[in-house]
Amino acid sequence: MTSHKGSSDRSSDDSKNSDFSPLAADSARSALALEAIGTRNPSVSDGIEREQLELAKDSFALKHQVLISQDAAGKQLTYTVRSGDSNIDVLTSENSREGLSRAEKQIEHLTAAKELQLKADYKLRFSKEQEEVVGQVAIAPDGTVSHGKMIHARAPYLSELYSIEGLMERATPSQLTKDGKDGVKFYFLKDSLYQDDHGAVATYRHSDKEDKPAIYVAPGGIGATLVKTGENFAWQGGIDGHMVLHELSHNSQFRLGIDEEKRLVQFSQRCGFDAFLKPGTDETIWAIRSKDGKLYRHDNELGGWQQIDKSGSPIKTKDSGNDNDGVLDDIEMAAKAEIRPPTFYFDNPVEMAAEGMAMLKESASSRKELLVKTPVFYQFMKEKDQEDIDLAYGLDKSGKAKIIRRPDGKLTTNNEAARKLILDFEQQ
Ligand SMILES: [Zn+2]
Repeated sequence: MTSHKGSSDRSSDDSKNSDFSPLAADSARSALALEAIGTRNPSVSDGIEREQLELAKDSFALKHQVLISQDAAGKQLTYTVRSGDSNIDVLTSENSREGLSRAEKQIEHLTAAKELQLKADYKLRFSKEQEEVVGQVAIAPDGTVSHGKMIHARAPYLSELYSIEGLMERATPSQLTKDGKDGVKFYFLKDSLYQDDHGAVATYRHSDKEDKPAIYVAPGGIGATLVKTGENFAWQGGIDGHMVLHELSHNSQFRLGIDEEKRLVQFSQRCGFDAFLKPGTDETIWAIRSKDGKLYRHDNELGGWQQIDKSGSPIKTKDSGNDNDGVLDDIEMAAKAEIRPPTFYFDNPVEMAAEGMAMLKESASSRKELLVKTPVFYQFMKEKDQEDIDLAYGLDKSGKAKIIRRPDGKLTTNNEAARKLILDFEQQ
């Protein structure tokens, strides 16, 4: 029953729910009007039945985030999910209430089966409906963290599972725990993780309520959302593959042990950052090094990068009392940085590296962009990714990696042909 169309001929964002015509709607309405005055006519109950079927389809579509379309004859329904940027028809049924309710059970089965498959293939885990996650996080002005009301999660939609699956060949092995026995758990939050919503679409934590790594997905979910505008349903937005690869890269950082201070400092050096302790506190200040040997730190209040001295204190510009003087924005800072950040999200080395790692894996073109924009950092990302891969797949007898990553982000056996593919890609 499952047809895998890949890039479907159905156009992506204007998919119509059905060919349910205005005429049909009108006749349904007039049928209802007739019912109201008590007429008993077979066409009246037909009209009501049709109206109820349409309502049932609408609520099914929104509840399960499945696009339902009917054929020209109005006899058959097709159920479509969204995987990344493609539509996948997963089911058909007859166009009736019975067909719809059978399809609902089948969607539930397909969702459960896809979850099991992702668990078997990648050890991924997913939140259950109404699962308790964590108390909502509140951060006081002095930095104290407290937890408020319990946040609950929902189960993933089939579209979300397909979308995640579509990334995993490139993401792996960054989703695994250090011992390789388990994988990251995706929690689809029903409420914002933070009391003051930062607008983050996802957040990585290396320790959830079960002391395992997790990605908390914001209430918007992963991937496209099916919405109804007027009579039509359409997918809005899409999978942010970069975002998922970014969050999983934080897990890879954890696998590589950069939560240990010494390794974190070494790692940060390679990203072009120095670490300082904020005087009188145990708070770390991350300072990015410029090509001309100066140090800058990101100041959220100033909204930019401020030069600091070797003790981590801000350097005021000579004769101006204005704190904002000499503050660089992200674009200016990136241009000056000793190690050029791959994107403009580089508040600290951990974020800069998650961005770089996502680019290394997302596609051949994003990997090329990383290589061209910041060649030194590209080599560092490649090296760290290989460490991560070796942790999962090990080395052969001669101490060489068994598995390497191709330019398109997928893993392959480390042989002459694969190495040549990468070399050619890098020299083009
Ligand atoms: Zn991040």
